[in-house]
Amino acid sequence: MDRNNRTMTSAAGRTVELADEVGFCFGVKRAINLTDHALAAGQPVYIFGDLVHNRKVTEALEQKGLRKVTSLADQPSGTMVVRAHGLPKDEISSAREAGMDVVDATCPIVHRAQEAAQTLEQRGCQVVIIGDSNHAEIKGILGALEKPALVVDSIEELRAAKADRRLRRKVGVVFQTTHALELCKDLIGELVFMCKEVQIINTICRPVQDRQDDAVELAERSDLMLVVGSATSANTVELAALCAEHNPWTMHIQTADDLREEDWIWATRIGIASGLSTPVDLVEAVRDKLLASPIPIRPERRPASHDVRRHPDGSRSHGV
Ligand code: SF4
Repeated sequence: MDRNNRTMTSAAGRTVELADEVGFCFGVKRAINLTDHALAAGQPVYIFGDLVHNRKVTEALEQKGLRKVTSLADQPSGTMVVRAHGLPKDEISSAREAGMDVVDATCPIVHRAQEAAQTLEQRGCQVVIIGDSNHAEIKGILGALEKPALVVDSIEELRAAKADRRLRRKVGVVFQTTHALELCKDLIGELVFMCKEVQIINTICRPVQDRQDDAVELAERSDLMLVVGSATSANTVELAALCAEHNPWTMHIQTADDLREEDWIWATRIGIASGLSTPVDLVEAVRDKLLASPIPIRPERRPASHDVRRHPDGSRSHGV
């Protein structure tokens, strides 16, 4: 998106500013391109789960013939696409053994996180992965290791592991690539306190980190902060949580239709950021809706911060 078009002011005096980067990250773009390419070859194309967690994107790919499956057992032949955040290596091997062509759309940054965990394991560390144990990427990292690793996402889980003697004295830490480093600080602090030696490889994706830093800055200078993306997108949920720590007037919305007049009528400066699997046109539609409104700014209608409607309907996700 053209940087010069990031900040616009409506006739009603409302300023809407987009974050530096909105729309797909390069890993998602790459996965969509590889899948499109596989579909163009004409044979059946299968995928475990969603390529990315955005309904609009997945529906478009399904219309072109992508078939979501939970098992390849009944699929006679074709191509299997590995999604951007990877799969355990034994699942990829089973697809190859079943005679499938495999298109590996795993993001190179996710591959690097797997390699970082292997490096720590080779150094004799017990690998600790800070992330969501149900996330495809975490399963991929676990599948790349020789020994079981510990997956934790909260201080409580860490303390439980320590109490059960599942935490060794020398640990090596990697992070789910889409995690917010800021939200992991307490866990790292606790680990340093609990273990004799803690080695850390920062596997958080740089585009994610840059977007988080930029979104936090934007949230801090905005009256209202909007984070656009699917309710099932882990990085969008996390980005909204991070922004809410810096500006309690933060809302996570999926599309422009989620915005009601009372949500924004009071705000003079509105910031918009997006998840990494949110198409740019969904973000622009939110901006355009706000800019098109002739309704005057009504600061007196600002809700108390605890009344802000923060989350769209939907559940926590396990995808990009
Ligand atoms: S968020 Fe980062 S790691 Fe994940 S697909 Fe995008 S670029 Fe790759």
